[in-house]
Amino acid sequence: MGRQKKMVKKVKELMSEREKIRNIGIVAHIDHGKTTLTDNLLAGAGMISEDLAGEQLFMDFDEEEQERGITIDAANVSMVHDFDNDNYLINLIDTPGHVDFGGDVTRAMRAVDGAVVVVDAVEGSMPQTETVLRQAIKENVKPVLFINKVDRLINELELSPQEMQQKFISVIEEVNEKVTGMIEDEEKKKEWKVSVNDGSVAFGSALYNWALSFPHMEETGISFKEIIDHCRNEEHLELHKKSPLHQIVLNMVIRHLPNPLTAQEYRIPTIWDGDLERDVGEQMVACDPDGETAFMVTDISVDPHAGEVATGRLFSGTLKEGMELEINGVPGKNRIQQVGIFMGPDRVDVNKVPAGNIVAVTGLKEAIAGSTASSTEMTPFESIKHISEPVVTVA
Ligand code: GDP
Repeated sequence: MGRQKKMVKKVKELMSEREKIRNIGIVAHIDHGKTTLTDNLLAGAGMISEDLAGEQLFMDFDEEEQERGITIDAANVSMVHDFDNDNYLINLIDTPGHVDFGGDVTRAMRAVDGAVVVVDAVEGSMPQTETVLRQAIKENVKPVLFINKVDRLINELELSPQEMQQKFISVIEEVNEKVTGMIEDEEKKKEWKVSVNDGSVAFGSALYNWALSFPHMEETGISFKEIIDHCRNEEHLELHKKSPLHQIVLNMVIRHLPNPLTAQEYRIPTIWDGDLERDVGEQMVACDPDGETAFMVTDISVDPHAGEVATGRLFSGTLKEGMELEINGVPGKNRIQQVGIFMGPDRVDVNKVPAGNIVAVTGLKEAIAGSTASSTEMTPFESIKHISEPVVTVA
């Protein structure tokens, strides 16, 4: 079996293990390194699960991806990550442009349960850091922090270890001040504060593909001094091998961000206005794959072969090929043609996807970003104003 086939098989298995799924977004102030981090996480994902890909295959994959200079513009990509000898499925949704803080960002946030907030170590928290954090907290999306561009603190600013520590502390304090300022519940304030000691903060260099976290330092014995020395000597490959970015960041995601089963229980009551006592409400709270289908579309893209592809979050039920769904605000039904996921730049058909996942489907011709597609009539996630034909009045 080829590498991709094995990976798809693994992804299909993991899709129904709700505890092993993380739906996440990466958010940042412009230029803080969101794109670089995303690309390196995706490149790293090819080698994550050793039983999926032999060394040779990984090399092929990595080189091929590097050659293509991956910047994946899919609305969502799925990755398998090995953590504590278990495989996990990470669905990463693209949070759109830094400048547009309108409906698109809210929508993307609504589809995920956790966010990796990237902050440039040199600049610290910036206005858009606050905006994206606000969006996340409003949608009940839990944050973890990645302090990026640490190589610049070492090689450009030539900070001493103590000065660097001070810098980290001040970035963490800035972020926590904002997080706790936006949360009312005292218990949740404590739980959602990021901290170096529990590993909900990681630091590193997205550009040079290495990162550090306290749990990783404890597990491997790698010291801060080693990092600084390697970095000063421009031994970034060495650092990448000892402390690979994707491993540290994705481990942090798995440890600290909630799975959909846990998250939907507290998120549905805050992100959806419908009646929680009604079937579909209960089923979404329970992330029930056997319930009615409730799918929120976050993005529409156009595939040259398959036509419109609707990406979104499935909160309950199971999406299957051939299924007919209602789209809020539109009469009649739309029939699903293909149900797929993005593996890197490729959309792969998987026939069906259960609740708790982010998924790409074709056939929902009348859906737009923000639509709710469902197997029964339900309160939509967003009320959408469809533009009707202009009424021409003749005087
Ligand atoms: P985005 O706007 O948040 O997506 O940021 P990009 O990923 O496009 O990065 C902005 C710039 O910062 C680019 O020139 C990157 O090469 C650079 N950059 C990103 N991460 C790092 C890093 O860890 N260290 C250094 N020195 N530069 C970085």
